[in-house]
Amino acid sequence: MEQTVQVDDKGVTTELTGDLWSTVLTQLDEVAERLQLDPGIHAMLRQPERELTVAVPVMMDDGHIEVFTGYRVQHSSARGPCKGGIRYHPEVNLNEARALAALMTWKCAVVDVPFGGAKGGVSCNPRQMSEAEICRLTRRYTAMIMPILGPRRDIPAPDVNTNPQVMAWMADTVSMLEGSSVIEVVTGKPVVLGGSLGRNEATGRGVAIVVREVLRRLGRPVEGTRVAVQGFGNVGSVAARLLQEMGCRIVAISDVSGGLRNSRGLDVAAIAHYLGMHRRALLADYPADDAERISNEELLTGDVDVLVPAALEHQIRADNAAAVQARIIVEGANGPTTRQADDILNERGVVVVPDILANAGGVVVSYLEWVQDLQRFFWEEETVNARLEAIMQRSLHEVWEFSQAHQVPLRLGAHMLAVRKVAEAIQTRGIFP
Ligand code: GLU
Repeated sequence: MEQTVQVDDKGVTTELTGDLWSTVLTQLDEVAERLQLDPGIHAMLRQPERELTVAVPVMMDDGHIEVFTGYRVQHSSARGPCKGGIRYHPEVNLNEARALAALMTWKCAVVDVPFGGAKGGVSCNPRQMSEAEICRLTRRYTAMIMPILGPRRDIPAPDVNTNPQVMAWMADTVSMLEGSSVIEVVTGKPVVLGGSLGRNEATGRGVAIVVREVLRRLGRPVEGTRVAVQGFGNVGSVAARLLQEMGCRIVAISDVSGGLRNSRGLDVAAIAHYLGMHRRALLADYPADDAERISNEELLTGDVDVLVPAALEHQIRADNAAAVQARIIVEGANGPTTRQADDILNERGVVVVPDILANAGGVVVSYLEWVQDLQRFFWEEETVNARLEAIMQRSLHEVWEFSQAHQVPLRLGAHMLAVRKVAEAIQTRGIFP
């Protein structure tokens, strides 16, 4: 579905949001026009290179067989092996995988790591599955997409509802079926299995670095900056904790169950500790006597300086973008802002740091993990963090300067830079045969 805008009988503008794939294509079309991109290369980038849909039968704990649908989409391998996460969520579908794969292509180009873009996932509800069922699902799904995986072909990593344990099962499945150790086929693994120190926190750390650097560039102090974080998973919880350590005041957080607000600041470390101790607990279960319970909608539109959407796509839309009070948005999630919302935020002068830059810390350290795996030589955490810091700083600098020079918002600037790099790679390689 293409995105359109509708005006209802009360004159209120609403947005028929469409899916993330249409958002990504519309963005690409705009960039292609600005860059006067070769129409053939534009057409190549509008279509993923390879798409695989698989039926994944799983023996459930009670003995019945359930069939899940899984995907792996490789958007572009022009700059290197395809790279991107695996998502387990009921809403996973082919168009979402296409969109997220294309965003990975741009993301890897923006931070200049030598990868193309891919994404995959299984449509399932892991909250209703046992650990053993998730393990069997992972192994069967991995076996079925294995023909297109490989350390020089396509390297998965964690995404929504997947984690280092899932990556360990994937690495083991590929290794067993190959009859040799191929741990470098996935990143985001546990450290005992060739994972990198610092990888688990990398996306959240990257988000925190970006917030700090944007504040510095705008001449605003970090100390006391009021931040709201939507999503308390691997990205949101780490970003919130590190921002608090830097001196920010985390005044609101949320997850699928709703949110918590305290204008004097929440004790993020205590909340994260509680959720870590209670498997599958949500913020709604947290005994927060000193905090007010709020909805996700209230979190997005609350009185804060910085908003970090770190949950799912299309959270900031035409119907709530005008109410967002934050002057700075740093996208921890992939695709949290619709096109229409983006225009509204730009018109209002809100600084939006786009996903492909803001949350790139994860894939940056995935790259560092892959490099360590291939050379079988592992680095100290300080080395990893210092390299992450340097790459995030350099990338933000590039996008910031480019966007200012071309007088475009950061999202458009980042996409222009990224598409230009991918197009150059395609042109330089030439079209096979
Ligand atoms: N899933 C993460 C992302 O969206 C990480 C991908 C990776 O490390 O390959 O960027």
